[in-house]
Amino acid sequence: MSLKTDLTSADLADIRRSALGAADPLGVAAELAEAAEAGHLTDPEDAGYALALAAEIAESRNKLDAALRYADRAVDAYAKRDDSQAGAAHALRARILFRAGREDDAMAELEPLRPLLTRHPDAAAYVSAPLAAGGRNRVAEQWLTDAVQETLAERGGADPATAEDAGLLFFLLQQRHRLRHALGRQHDTHDNLAERLETRLANAAPPPAADLLFWPEAEFGKLLARWPALSADYGDTWDEHRARLERELVRLTGAGRTGLTVLPGTVAGLTGFAGADGDPAGAKSRAGYAARLATGAAQIPWPPERNGSCWCGSGLKYKKCCLPRSRG
Ligand SMILES: [Zn+2]
Ligand SMILES: [Zn+2]
Repeated sequence: MSLKTDLTSADLADIRRSALGAADPLGVAAELAEAAEAGHLTDPEDAGYALALAAEIAESRNKLDAALRYADRAVDAYAKRDDSQAGAAHALRARILFRAGREDDAMAELEPLRPLLTRHPDAAAYVSAPLAAGGRNRVAEQWLTDAVQETLAERGGADPATAEDAGLLFFLLQQRHRLRHALGRQHDTHDNLAERLETRLANAAPPPAADLLFWPEAEFGKLLARWPALSADYGDTWDEHRARLERELVRLTGAGRTGLTVLPGTVAGLTGFAGADGDPAGAKSRAGYAARLATGAAQIPWPPERNGSCWCGSGLKYKKCCLPRSRG
C-alpha cells in the first residue's frame, strides 16, 4: 500500500476490515501511523483511531515493541479528551504492556480508568479485556463489583426490573456475571439480578419492525408528497426522520438489544404490498410491509462503525451524520 493521497474515514474503515489478510500487515500499520503523524488524514480527528488501528495490527503479529509505540501515540492523540475512546486507547496500551510482560506498567495504565466504569457503558468490556489478557480476572471481578455497588447505591431503592431501567448498570452486571462464571464462582445476589435482567431481555418481544422502517431521502419526499399526514409518524423533514430513527435505535441498544437493522422502504414497495384494495398509508399496511422487509436482504446493519459510511445513505461518515442526531 502506498499513500499517494490523504486517507478518508472510509479508507480507514476498509483498512480495518482488510489489514489482517494483507500481504504485509506491518507495512500497513507503519503507513497508517505515518499518515496520522504527517497529517495525511482527511479528518485530523481520525489520528487516534488510525494509530490505535496500527497498534492492533502490530499486536496481532506479535510485534509488541511496535504495537506499544503506536499505542503510545494513540494515547497522545487522545490526550486532551476525557471520553470513552480515550479510555479505550489506554486499555489497548495496557493490554499490550501485559503481553510484553510489563505487568506493573499495565496496572498503572489501567488504575486511572476505574472511574470510567460508572460513566461509560462500554468501559466494562474494554477495562476487563486487558485484565483478562494479563491473567487478572480477579482484579476485574473486584473492580466490577465495586462499580456495581456504587451504581446501585447511587440509584437507591429497588433493583431495576429491565435492562433498559438498569442502563449502564446492566452492562456492568452482565460483564461481571460472565466473568464470575469463567472463574467458577457461585451466584451471588448481583449475579441473580444479572440473570433476571438477561432472561427478561431474551424473552422480550423484538422491537416492532414498523419502528425501524426507514425512508431514504428521495422516498421520504415522495411519501410525504402523497400522504402529508404521515409526517406525524416519520417527522416533517428527512433530518427529523433520521433523528427519530437514530434515537430509537440508541434507546433499544440502551435496553440491551443487539443485532439491530434499519429497514429501507420505498413508496412503490409499500403500495405494491398494500395491493389494489389496500390502504398503503394505513398503519396496518406499513407494519406489514416493514415486517416483510425485516425478513429480506435489504436490511442495513446498525450501528455502522463511527468512521464508516452512515446508515442513512448520505455518503457522510456516521460520526458526522446520524450519530450526533441522537443527542439533538
Ligand atoms: Zn449465571
Ligand atoms: Zn446519516
